[in-house]
Amino acid sequence: MSNQFLALTEILYAYILNNSLREPEVLRRLREETEASNPMAIMAISPVQGQFMMLLLRLIGAVKTLEVGVFTGYSSLCTALTIPAHGRVYACDVSEEWTSVAQRYWAEAGVADKVTLKLAPAVETLDALLADGHAGTFDFAFIDADKANYDAYYERALKLVRNGGLLVFDNMLWYGKVADDNEQDADTVALRALNAKLHNDDRVFTSLIGVGDGMHLAIKQHD
Ligand code: CA
Repeated sequence: MSNQFLALTEILYAYILNNSLREPEVLRRLREETEASNPMAIMAISPVQGQFMMLLLRLIGAVKTLEVGVFTGYSSLCTALTIPAHGRVYACDVSEEWTSVAQRYWAEAGVADKVTLKLAPAVETLDALLADGHAGTFDFAFIDADKANYDAYYERALKLVRNGGLLVFDNMLWYGKVADDNEQDADTVALRALNAKLHNDDRVFTSLIGVGDGMHLAIKQHD
């Protein structure tokens, strides 16, 4: 067997869950409610990804964070539970319905005061943050929204994050479609282009990893 990669099986994934996952009860309930009631539940990050994100947030000592694409709130709750009491998550989404679930769980977990929900197209919210003097002040940004706009989110989030801050893009392997030239739909093309851009972008130091549906990590080196 090659030691370059390991294809996950159901059995191996179960092993990872059984030997690594420490999912707080409130996160488990949010995940189970989303899986049971929301036909778009696949949009939520997996608990393994959530825990990985919590580890990354702790590694960099994240206090002020940005999230583009809240859905029902699993990743923002991971973040709010991890950052210190004076920390803040700026959470961007356009769905009042989905984020109402998120808000309920932020409150249940006692972290609602750490989250600022921005219900508007995220490009507008990010531009407003830049105009309000937030450039270079964020420690972390998680991008997990409409794929066609990922590059627009990247350019803005990169300005908002400090040098040494971390950007994380979800779904960057896109069910494997980015590696298949026969796949030319707009979302696949956009993600493929962003992976290539990140690879050659001197402003960031990156790592594209096969966790979940693929996460591209990028540390900001300079503007
Ligand atoms: Ca996702």
